[in-house]
Amino acid sequence: SLRAGIVGLPNVGKSTLFNAVVENGKAQAANFPFCTIEPNVGIVAVPDSRLHVLSDLSKSQRSVPASIEFVDIAGLVKGASQGEGLGNKFLSHIREVDSILQVVRCFEDNDIVHVNGKVDPKSDIDVINLELVFSDLDQIEKRIDKLKKGKAKDSQSKVKEEAEKTALEKIQEALMDGKPARSVTLTDFERDAVKHLCLLTMKPIIYVANVAETDLADPANNNYVKDVTNVASQLQSRIVTISAQVEAELTELPLEERQEYLQSLGVSESGLGNLIRATYDLLGLRTYFTSGEKETKAWTILAGMTAPQAAGVIHSDFEKGFIRAETVSYNDFVAAGSLAASREKGLLRSEGKDYVVQEGDVMLFRFNV
Ligand code: GDP
Repeated sequence: SLRAGIVGLPNVGKSTLFNAVVENGKAQAANFPFCTIEPNVGIVAVPDSRLHVLSDLSKSQRSVPASIEFVDIAGLVKGASQGEGLGNKFLSHIREVDSILQVVRCFEDNDIVHVNGKVDPKSDIDVINLELVFSDLDQIEKRIDKLKKGKAKDSQSKVKEEAEKTALEKIQEALMDGKPARSVTLTDFERDAVKHLCLLTMKPIIYVANVAETDLADPANNNYVKDVTNVASQLQSRIVTISAQVEAELTELPLEERQEYLQSLGVSESGLGNLIRATYDLLGLRTYFTSGEKETKAWTILAGMTAPQAAGVIHSDFEKGFIRAETVSYNDFVAAGSLAASREKGLLRSEGKDYVVQEGDVMLFRFNV
């Protein structure tokens, strides 16, 4: 499944957030077949109220949510790209994730040391951004040197290597300017040619502003959050506000007391669902459902996938033998009350192999084995 890596300077609340996400995930889905797979990797359910609605309507025996993996990547410090701290080891962990969540400290607390002496989100973001930029520059330099030697065997690979070199030079220029690779305009062909490098600053990033509980109700009022918002928009990234501490406390409260606690802070729901959803959206993911008596299940696909490709997520045989898909939108399904009723009312459409699956579609695949 897709991985999101949690990074940030020491003492900003990464582990607190990671633990809250994992604990919350366990509590939310009693029969969820996943759990913490390594000390720093947790698989969490993507909260989706539609799943429960469909599951009730279909009288399913169980419901299975979509999931993403969160990885706690501690230890990124200033100088990591030069091998400071555990330096390059952590950068290599970041290379393996699909998206990055950078926790930025926006809360004051004199008891908790800030590595740079004071809370300064803009500087925190710059420090980490620079490490990622240095690491990418280093890699690009080596790669360009290699490409200059021009070992391409045929004209096709020569064209590809030329595109890669052009793209890398464009990215190099941006990086020298402190700008991330993701801000560079590339053709699809160029983008494809540099993909194998897994550049760190090419990965989508969300800034997670970790605020004090007193700022939760109106985070935009907090100047630190304003700083993060400004930097994020310059770096073409998103921001999510959360209080890691509150989330951690919530996981320790009995369910019936959580709502009361949230209300006392002036908010209506935990921020974790929002964070998980934002991560899911950031990855360009979409959900479709299958729903029957045995189970109702949320399946994850990429935006733009066709019906056979979506069927292939369940099983490759479904894609190979695809005949057609019976499809009803989530809203129509709910209005009709069941798949059978959707069919009777003519809301269940028969779609062929070119159909692009829409967010929330409920699907039934017909295939040859
Ligand atoms: P990490 O080094 O980034 O993983 O940071 P930790 O999650 O270990 O947190 C460092 C310290 O900050 C711990 O003592 C946490 O309890 C505390 N902390 C984390 N989030 C918050 C917060 O939102 N508010 C306050 N006041 N303290 C927090």
